[in-house]
Amino acid sequence: MELLKRKILQECRVEGQDILKVDSFLNHQMDIELFNAIGRAFKSRFENKPISKILTIEASGIGIACIAAQYFKVPVVFAKKTESRNLDKEVYESKVISFTKNKEYIIKVSKKYLSSSDNILIIDDFLAKGQALSGLIDIITQANANLIGVGIVIEKSFQKGGKDLRNQGIQIESLAMIKSLENNKVTFEEEGRKEK
Ligand code: 5GP
Repeated sequence: MELLKRKILQECRVEGQDILKVDSFLNHQMDIELFNAIGRAFKSRFENKPISKILTIEASGIGIACIAAQYFKVPVVFAKKTESRNLDKEVYESKVISFTKNKEYIIKVSKKYLSSSDNILIIDDFLAKGQALSGLIDIITQANANLIGVGIVIEKSFQKGGKDLRNQGIQIESLAMIKSLENNKVTFEEEGRKEK
């Protein structure tokens, strides 16, 4: 997605060998015009799929998923990372290791909001080693719901999450795929599909 790639090149900062900071438009301040374009791009990549719900994970996934949901016209459910006393007792849980914080946490979704009749599209901001996605997929499996596919804003294809999950037959659509962040330089994979 050209608009997204331009924005990354103009505004990102590379941290260490493998972290991309995009706080000015994705992870702190949010560029809603760009989010709309991202939502439309996900819609076109999952056109005609019978999606009944979007599942994401707090915090950064929520804004992206909500804007995308306006194109799919379905509800958004987000997995909670934080302990909360008012979360339902009946929950699906899974363990996730945070890539950026390097610590383990439990994600939870109330059993009220996922069921075996749901066809789920997962949406998230980044795909690195695939831990967050694996946790969400585990929760979908526990709910006996059907995973239709995954929409990712930025995939770092030099990390192995995307490859492993695609090998399991999961449709993962990433709008920008980064081949390398070496020497502080962002290099994208060649794109098969063009959006503006
Ligand atoms: P994974 O679970 O695939 O290893 O990592 C994905 C999660 O870690 C995403 O939900 C995102 O929050 C965070 N993440 C991974 N890599 C990056 C990165 O390069 N930049 C930012 N901002 N977040 C990242």
